[in-house]
Amino acid sequence: MVGEGVGVSGATGGSGLDLHCSRCRRVCRGNELDRLLWCEGCIARAKARAKRVGWMCGVVLAAGLGAWIHFVQKPSAALLGGWIGIVLAAFWLCARAGTELWYGVLRIRHRPGGQ
Ligand SMILES: [Zn+2]
Repeated sequence: MVGEGVGVSGATGGSGLDLHCSRCRRVCRGNELDRLLWCEGCIARAKARAKRVGWMCGVVLAAGLGAWIHFVQKPSAALLGGWIGIVLAAFWLCARAGTELWYGVLRIRHRPGGQ
């Protein structure tokens, strides 16, 4: 039912209301939910999922960049350390960006009751 996720189930002494998490439907105090009415557990699960996806993006990009450097650039032994640093920096940046982007996608696309 539309709007069921934000239903107010009762007052709790004036310090907050009991609300349903819009993602897992667990009843929480109003001050335990964020602005999208997600509980702390759902936020933690979404961040962990986004982190896994971000790391996979970083690994894929670093592997592709490493292969391109190895097969196309054919680095000399003197510059190998610099190329390795570039690959590691690309991995870290892509992992961070992928994590943040995927977390944003999860937040925007979530459906009430979905995980
Ligand atoms: Zn939740």
